[in-house]
Amino acid sequence: MTSQQQSQAPLRQLKVLVTARDSEPVHGNVSLQDLSTGERRRRALKGLVICWILALISVPIMFFHFVLVPGFLIAGIVLYRIKFAESRLLTGGEIPCPGCQHPNQLGPQPEQWPMGLHCASCNLGISFEPEAA
Ligand SMILES: [Zn+2]
Repeated sequence: MTSQQQSQAPLRQLKVLVTARDSEPVHGNVSLQDLSTGERRRRALKGLVICWILALISVPIMFFHFVLVPGFLIAGIVLYRIKFAESRLLTGGEIPCPGCQHPNQLGPQPEQWPMGLHCASCNLGISFEPEAA
């Protein structure tokens, strides 16, 4: 995929099956965004730079710098690899609670199926994954 400009890829809607223990399954919607290589690199570099700045800030801290500096340097590289591997981002969605029907709003997060949350209204453990086509 080539990116001609810095514009973001369009959002895709995905229907999900929402399940919880002792409740009938219900349907919800999430929106996904495919990340271009440039976007993945930019997100990954942000994590790397933050960790390396923390490593730099840790240098004058007596004794702790022996652990903090190499720790943040390595964490930056690990974070870069994790962030760069994320090719799709869940940008939001509405997950109805199978127990109380409360519409739970999702914030941006990496796509990782199956996903889970706790209902904001009744605290029921909810699991959701894409519906079979
Ligand atoms: Zn609920």
